[in-house]
Amino acid sequence: MKNKETDAERRKGRIVTAVVVAILGVIFVVGFIWGLNMVLALEGSYPPNDLTEGAVPPPATAAEAVKLLENAAETAAKEQPKIGAHHSFYVVRDGENGGIEAPGSDALRTYLGLVADTAGNSSQPLGKLLSEAYPDRGAGYGEDTAAILPEVSFPADAVEGFKCEYIYYVCPVCELESQTPADSCEECGGTRPYVMKYHDEYTITLTLKSDTADGLFIKKNAEEIADLFIGTGSFKVSGVSTETKTVTVVYKLDRLSLELRSLILERTIAADATLSFFAEYESLGRQPVSLTLGEKEEYTLTWPSLTLNRHVLSIEPGSTDNLLATVVCADPLAAEVTWESSDESVVTVDEEGYLKAGKEPGTAEVTARFTFRGKEYSDTCRIEVKVSVESLSLNTRKLKLKTGEEKTLTAKPSPSDATVKSVTWYTEDPDIAKVDENGAVTGVAPGKTTVYALSDDGWFRVSCEVTVNE
Ligand SMILES: [Zn+2]
Repeated sequence: MKNKETDAERRKGRIVTAVVVAILGVIFVVGFIWGLNMVLALEGSYPPNDLTEGAVPPPATAAEAVKLLENAAETAAKEQPKIGAHHSFYVVRDGENGGIEAPGSDALRTYLGLVADTAGNSSQPLGKLLSEAYPDRGAGYGEDTAAILPEVSFPADAVEGFKCEYIYYVCPVCELESQTPADSCEECGGTRPYVMKYHDEYTITLTLKSDTADGLFIKKNAEEIADLFIGTGSFKVSGVSTETKTVTVVYKLDRLSLELRSLILERTIAADATLSFFAEYESLGRQPVSLTLGEKEEYTLTWPSLTLNRHVLSIEPGSTDNLLATVVCADPLAAEVTWESSDESVVTVDEEGYLKAGKEPGTAEVTARFTFRGKEYSDTCRIEVKVSVESLSLNTRKLKLKTGEEKTLTAKPSPSDATVKSVTWYTEDPDIAKVDENGAVTGVAPGKTTVYALSDDGWFRVSCEVTVNE
């Protein structure tokens, strides 16, 4: 039994306790400093909005949108990116009775829903027939796409509706994406307005007149669709009539390269028919039905590309770093990447993307490229060789002024040998205090406002609270 501690054991216990307390203390202090740094870093990080323009402005009219699509399809036929094509046929289940009118019989409605289920993943009779009528097709890089991509040329006056989307909004606090702007965030309670952003692609939706459909789809017209309804051993279909109700074309276009990324053709069809049901030797009756069918053709285009992991990189004079190039293309041999620096006195690059900076500050562009089917694919990174700004300090964080009085603030970037030492000054409320490009603050009218300095390198921001009295 050892319920009585010896002196040695007690001493050991005290030492262990002291060590644990010391370790916890160190963790607390480190954590506190880390937390403090996070808070200061928040104050210091203030990147500007960077909304890149597209290669062409968004189409403003239906005619422009049609022209863009024609050009993009023509380019695709010539440069032959990889294409995936998927076709499907489905029952539109919206509306009363799940979209199927079949008087008198719930069982029939259920049955029809099953037989006409989405093609491609159905073992049901009609689903199977339709999926066989629409085999998935595709082409690899450099293969002929002419037989796969549909002819997407149609008169602009066939367009009834037109929409081009590429703007969206992001909450600066929780990064929630939204289609509409807002002054505050319902999701996270943030009180800052959403930031406007651009998608990389224009998403363009065209609604076409129904008679345009015949030229666009694989099953060219309503009769060809009606012919698919031949029935099986258990039922016969007769008196089929179909009518195209809606036709939409949705395509995504890369805003910078104008490459076609995807194309979706979709139409809805009202179909009426008479179904005759058979048991082994006898008729089980006839039943008129109406249902709405959807037909969808989806094309996905994957273009060869080269993307660098960085597009701006700053490195210290004399130091090394490296860039990574991600290549998308079928044939890795055809896609041999070469590297080039625009100014080897600033930075050199080897055949693997390893960089070595010169001794003096400067800026150069490093480009990686490869050629496929006579076309060059490349990406560029701007290399800034410099001593980077790591923080920004201000000579005072509180300033009192009289109306008309002027005092100059001094903002100092660290380290002292930073290459770019300049800062940009601005004031929250120029009606209370104004600030010039040298940090000279002038009281304009009584009140309180904040003057900021923003380092031109690294976008560190510091603030000074300014109180103006009569
Ligand atoms: Zn939010």
